[in-house]
Amino acid sequence: MTYFDTHAHFYGNTSPAEHAMVMKRALEAGVTQLLAVGGSADLNSGAIAVAKAFPAQARLALGFDRDQTKDADPETLVQTLRLLAKDLSVVAVGEMGLDFHYHPETADAQAALFAAQLRLGDEWKKPVIIHTREADETTLRILDETPWHGKGLRGVVHCFTGDKHFASQLLDRQLAISFSGIVTFKSADMLRESATFVPDERLMIETDSPFLAPVPHRGKANEPAFVRHVAACLATVRKTDESAIASLTYRNAETLFASAPSF
Ligand SMILES: [Zn+2]
Repeated sequence: MTYFDTHAHFYGNTSPAEHAMVMKRALEAGVTQLLAVGGSADLNSGAIAVAKAFPAQARLALGFDRDQTKDADPETLVQTLRLLAKDLSVVAVGEMGLDFHYHPETADAQAALFAAQLRLGDEWKKPVIIHTREADETTLRILDETPWHGKGLRGVVHCFTGDKHFASQLLDRQLAISFSGIVTFKSADMLRESATFVPDERLMIETDSPFLAPVPHRGKANEPAFVRHVAACLATVRKTDESAIASLTYRNAETLFASAPSF
């Protein structure tokens, strides 16, 4: 069985030897592909390091998340992405998005940075990786206000934690939905119900490592090797087998994050 972990983070100051061990354990667990996802200066540099060192196993996404609004305005951050992406094969923009749970006070700045990166994704014709927490309406409004000229899917909402209603609104807007280890948590009944609702061709899996280790690894540092627990949980709630989930989520990720230009 092979897996595509569509969302893994790496710190820029982690040693190459440690990255290599994480990637080796991933490969041993069947994670033959992963998306190394940026989000801050540090996470972008970690993602670049891993994508360069493991070109056959890792693809690259660069972006600035909702916590990066303090240090620079959106245009400066987008300009930084343009410079970083030069001479690199970037398959997606992200992560980006809104989190009004932790930082409602920066809502306007988060929205401006999110919109600026959606426009960059549209310009580059690259899919976007969206984080959204307690910000359903603003997320939908900004998506609706921002043009998308590409064909096919626009991107993915990662680490989905919403209900069926929000899932259907995102599916209506040409997005895929990715589930993380949160779906395995005991308290996540509502989320498991959402997971039964997403159609096969829009479903993805991720670890969001090193955060959010799934059951039975809760409390430990998460890593891409653990993505199979997400696949196993989705297989149970969707009444299918793990190999079916592994292969359909792999195919979906392969299509959305194609290495070669696909638009
Ligand atoms: Zn993330």
